[in-house]
Amino acid sequence: MDVVCYPDPILQRRAAPVDLARPDLAEIVEEMIKTMIEAAGVGLAGPQVALDLRLFVASATGEAGDVVVCINPQVELSGPLVEMEEGCLSLPGIRRIIKRPSEIRLRAFNVGGEEFEVTDDGLLGRILQHENDHLNGVLFFERMTGADRIGIRPDLKALEEQHRPGETLRRP
Ligand code: ZN
Repeated sequence: MDVVCYPDPILQRRAAPVDLARPDLAEIVEEMIKTMIEAAGVGLAGPQVALDLRLFVASATGEAGDVVVCINPQVELSGPLVEMEEGCLSLPGIRRIIKRPSEIRLRAFNVGGEEFEVTDDGLLGRILQHENDHLNGVLFFERMTGADRIGIRPDLKALEEQHRPGETLRRP
């Protein structure tokens, strides 16, 4: 799978729920895990590989053994805002401190269609928040301070020139 970069419009749209009965679900998830690891990422959401689907994979260590697969997640955030540096495979070269609530409680389905819950206030929780944003069409620069948003303008402009918006190869 190819990672879609900003300013592809699929990254700023709300993704559609996943039909847990679709026969290619396991294959999609497997390919996403492979793509994330090859890209040395710690999270990858459906829209980032041109899939209009509410699912993502995450691994706090970047290793396959630690991957959490979240399909049709529902999240609750709590706690004080904490600062942590983030990057995004769809916005290569941009890293900034982002403030988010300290804790996430996430309920989702795994690839076997079983519901599970995870609560985390560390790095994994931060990744889950970032990836869940992707399912709602929210990119991490929307959570930056005003000064950082101004600071990254040249980087965004460079990405806009590199990745001209065209036809996204969307898969059903
Ligand atoms: Zn991202």
